[in-house]
Amino acid sequence: MPNIFALFARLKWGNGAGASSDQMTVITDPFTLSETNLEEIREHAVAAYPNEACGVLVRMPDGRPAVRRMANIQEEMHAKLPEHFTRTAKTAYCWDQAEIDQLEELRASGDHKLLAIYHSHPDHGAYFSDTDQAAATPFGEPTYPEAVQLVISVVEAEPREFRIFSWSEAEHVYVEVPVTLLD
Ligand SMILES: [Zn+2]
Repeated sequence: MPNIFALFARLKWGNGAGASSDQMTVITDPFTLSETNLEEIREHAVAAYPNEACGVLVRMPDGRPAVRRMANIQEEMHAKLPEHFTRTAKTAYCWDQAEIDQLEELRASGDHKLLAIYHSHPDHGAYFSDTDQAAATPFGEPTYPEAVQLVISVVEAEPREFRIFSWSEAEHVYVEVPVTLLD
């Protein structure tokens, strides 16, 4: 459950050619995730517990998808500006501006691709909350249109279920998409 300054995304390919014109039925392609990358995200979520972990999955220039951890500075922001950053890192995350800038450079370079943004929900389920929805679309549209959102639950420092969500143009909201796991 990130705050309003956290960055989010939608998935373009999931509702492009595969999208239904029927507004009640949005057909989305499955998101392909490797077991290796999933394990890296699980490890990060456990390491960050009881705080939220956050990061991105990026396709490298050689085509390989790589997990990149991002620092969660929510706790520092909460200590500095508690009236604005009302949540602690247990229920929110916030990225450092320097890392956001690096991500922007990476996106602009054209040889990388932002595939997914992930965060964990310590002692909560793997849902995309109303707060997550709002933070992902601070100006009414997703900040990162090319990426899906992965949320993983961690309960008592044990990784649990995860779910992936993508932006639905038709419904103007993030919707869960199926996942294909690769070895
Ligand atoms: Zn969340």
